[in-house]
Amino acid sequence: VRKVHLVPKAHYGGRHAVTMLPGGGIGPECMGYVRDIFKYIGAPVDFEIVDIDPNADNDDDLKYAITTIKRNGVCLKGNIETKSEAAYVTSRNVALRNELDMYAYVLHCKSFPGVATRHKDIDIHIIRQNTEGEYAMLEHESVKGVIESMKVVTASNSERVARFAFEFAKKNGRKKVTTVHKANIMKLSDGLFLETSRRVAKDYPELEHNDLIIDNCCMQLVSRPQQFDVMLMTNLYGSIVSNVVCGILGGAGIHSGRNYGDHYAVFEPGTRNTGTAIAGKNVANPIAMINASIDMLEQLGHHFHADLIKAAVDKTINEDHIMTPDLGGQASSTQVVEAIIDNIDLYMKNKVSF
Ligand code: ADP
Ligand code: MG
Repeated sequence: VRKVHLVPKAHYGGRHAVTMLPGGGIGPECMGYVRDIFKYIGAPVDFEIVDIDPNADNDDDLKYAITTIKRNGVCLKGNIETKSEAAYVTSRNVALRNELDMYAYVLHCKSFPGVATRHKDIDIHIIRQNTEGEYAMLEHESVKGVIESMKVVTASNSERVARFAFEFAKKNGRKKVTTVHKANIMKLSDGLFLETSRRVAKDYPELEHNDLIIDNCCMQLVSRPQQFDVMLMTNLYGSIVSNVVCGILGGAGIHSGRNYGDHYAVFEPGTRNTGTAIAGKNVANPIAMINASIDMLEQLGHHFHADLIKAAVDKTINEDHIMTPDLGGQASSTQVVEAIIDNIDLYMKNKVSF
């Protein structure tokens, strides 16, 4: 049996070292909020912070970041910028995922009752192939005026992400897995992905399995999103569907995403935005990065600290209605963080159970 979700051994005294990649845009300020909260509650985590120069014309910073993740096993990440638009300079975010062979991405999209949205009671897990497909970044101009871009789908990666999705569904008590594809047009590539998921589904008779073409999937999502449970898809569809689902749940600022391989786990805001336009203005929603840090604490087995922050975040949004403008609120980023810390205080001092 394949061993996934490897938890690194505790370092001295039960503390964990974790790589922190603040990235660009709103990444550094959001990391600052996470560090404030961790410090306040005494979370047993030591961050190893690595800044990656977006203007660098070499990948030394990235290589160093990857080395630290290999050592620590776990990383909290903002979106890394690549300033160069030259075709030969690849996205550092993609390179990081490929280098660490993090073939599965998990995005949990659950409604916050306190956020006003058209659709209620959504609880979807998107599982996305995270290392190939259209993100193979193999493009070239075969003859002048003709660009070819390769979408790579392999049986082995389709198999492991499908198995990941079904195992995930089983472990988390979910009922249904939906494979999303365009196999009617991309008969070989998406066909392989779909066929593989159907074959893997046979090993999980307790789970319902169906499939849906990506176009219909988008229509269903914006009209009746409650029908979805666990969704399995290739890389590009995953990026688009993630944004659709986050959009109907309140935007880019709330949900977090998890990158998994067999050996490493990287946690980040779910829609992977840089937020360049809103950086430094004290308006960015800090929740997505805080949720990513909660996922990270859970991965490391620090459930008390994870539950404490989660309860404080939920109360801040759902009961106190203290939110940034992207969620229709009037609070600044720092006011939201202060409210979360006040709520943590409430839970700790009054020993209120959460
Ligand atoms: P990209 O990184 O793909 O360039 P952007 O940074 O432009 O994407 O983000 C897309 C949209 O989501 C923008 O309107 C941005 O302001 C918004 N956004 C992203 N993250 C947050 C956040 N944490 N809080 C509020 N708005 C956000
Ligand atoms: Mg983007």
